[in-house]
Amino acid sequence: MDYLVLVNQLHAMPEDWYEDLKTDRFINTAGEEVEIESRTFHAYTELKKELKEKGIEIDADSGLRSMELQQQIMDDFTKEFGAGYAAKTVAPAGYSEHQTGLAVDLYPIIDGQNVMSNAELLKHPELWVVIHACLAGHGFILRYPEGKEHITGYGYEPWHVRFIGDPAEAGFIMAEGLTLEEYLLGRQQPDVMSVPGVSALYSREEQQEMSVLIKCSFASRAGIRLQQIRYKGDEAVRQLSVPGYQSLAVFAAEYITAGSCESEDFLLGYSPYGWEIISQE
Ligand SMILES: [Zn+2]
Repeated sequence: MDYLVLVNQLHAMPEDWYEDLKTDRFINTAGEEVEIESRTFHAYTELKKELKEKGIEIDADSGLRSMELQQQIMDDFTKEFGAGYAAKTVAPAGYSEHQTGLAVDLYPIIDGQNVMSNAELLKHPELWVVIHACLAGHGFILRYPEGKEHITGYGYEPWHVRFIGDPAEAGFIMAEGLTLEEYLLGRQQPDVMSVPGVSALYSREEQQEMSVLIKCSFASRAGIRLQQIRYKGDEAVRQLSVPGYQSLAVFAAEYITAGSCESEDFLLGYSPYGWEIISQE
């Protein structure tokens, strides 16, 4: 079992992965059955115990996913939210870390209530600080840190933790603020500066979401290193017929198709939405 296996938008999981995968199953506080790789499950149980002593109750709501389930999730999200949003939040079958059984989505139980939706989960930064500080001691890392979406391809997910086996390695990764990609490649990538602008078309939150989408899309493009992205102002926006959130949906759809463009077109792909991309090839 290779506990340092890299699965992301560019790296599919090994085909023979399930041959020696051993798992444990349990029922979480929401009544769902969750399956996790056996050593990961043991480490998770110890993490949970340590957090309980600190007054924080957690559980897990997504462990191992089969190829079929991953495809089903993608189909459901596409149907409900559209292809752009689905591409941003769900990995294609074979490219999700959840298919390895080494990834766990945590959720806290606050005043007896399961806090499970992504939006609600982001409202408790003070809890995540404590939870994240305990991860490495049990061999876990935070897999999708804030501001690293240009490397991981995912926006910040405080709940998604990944078991890598060795607490010392996990401790190094967490202390240095690295992603698994950077650790395995042995080099740190600089952060990307994101400069929002004054806009009557997009709220600050929408600009923030756009910048995450742009950065995510660059994670799956080798050979281009993103340096800075900048909102140039509403006067630079050309292809908008509807302001606000609806145009963000159009933008998200643009983001998913951008993957097949040539790099130059790709870099220019965001300019109709007012974004300037500064990169090094
Ligand atoms: Zn997850």
